Amino acid sequence: MSQLPAQTPTTESGFHFYQNFMSDVNLLKIVIGGNAKLEKSIATFSLPAGHSCPGALECLSRADPDTGKVTDGKFTKFRCFAAAAEAMYSATRAARWHNFNALTTAGSRKAMAALIVASLPEKLKILRIHVSGDFFSQTYFDAWLDAAAARPEVEFYAYTKSLKFWVARLPEIPANLRLVASRGGKNDDLIQAFDLPNVTVVYHPEEAEKLGLEIDHDDSLARNPSLKGFALLLHGAQPSNSMAQAAIQRMKKEGVKFSYSSETKAAEAVAT
Ligand code: SF4
Repeated sequence: MSQLPAQTPTTESGFHFYQNFMSDVNLLKIVIGGNAKLEKSIATFSLPAGHSCPGALECLSRADPDTGKVTDGKFTKFRCFAAAAEAMYSATRAARWHNFNALTTAGSRKAMAALIVASLPEKLKILRIHVSGDFFSQTYFDAWLDAAAARPEVEFYAYTKSLKFWVARLPEIPANLRLVASRGGKNDDLIQAFDLPNVTVVYHPEEAEKLGLEIDHDDSLARNPSLKGFALLLHGAQPSNSMAQAAIQRMKKEGVKFSYSSETKAAEAVAT
């Protein structure tokens, strides 16, 4: 299998140079058909949780690439649901590492953008970038700006804690790319400083009510460009004896709907 050239060519512009190298390259794996939480028209793209998240703090968890064993970060308050899914499903873990390795091998902004564009299904309507993972470098963030610009008919959206990369490119975000800052990261100060649309993970619907935030159950609020702030309800397996675990137990007892039972199973169905 050939590899994409690591250096940006000086004699060609745009993606065309690289697309000549795409025919036998292993494209990125895009999950089509939504999942238990998302509508069927939404495709998703993921990277390994935690390993690709330089801005993660309170959510930081990583599954070992080989064994799937999850390790939480020093400041983890609630365990990343995506890391837990990788622990359960080796095919999900493998697909995310495939994507990460392909992108880092591509290397440059142009090569990564070309790889992304070549991997997007032709009839794609909506893509959620990073059900798992995050923008792991400025170069990679910039590649998504180019990919979104190359497919203006597609709606792209992403939650992110990689706020430094976003604010460095504020005037350059294409109209068809909606970003939402996820609170609980290393650079939360940038949310207020740059008035970024944002989401807060709450431990109970009461907390969202106190904060005056609506809870998003299906990404419809995440995709609404007129909304500045909303909430997500904590879900997934949480570290033993943590406040997050106690919150999950309380919601179970009260019959609060907070999980999406077939989400992880759907995440296994990977298509390029
Ligand atoms: S940033 Fe997202 S994917 Fe990364 S560790 Fe946190 S919750 Fe998981």
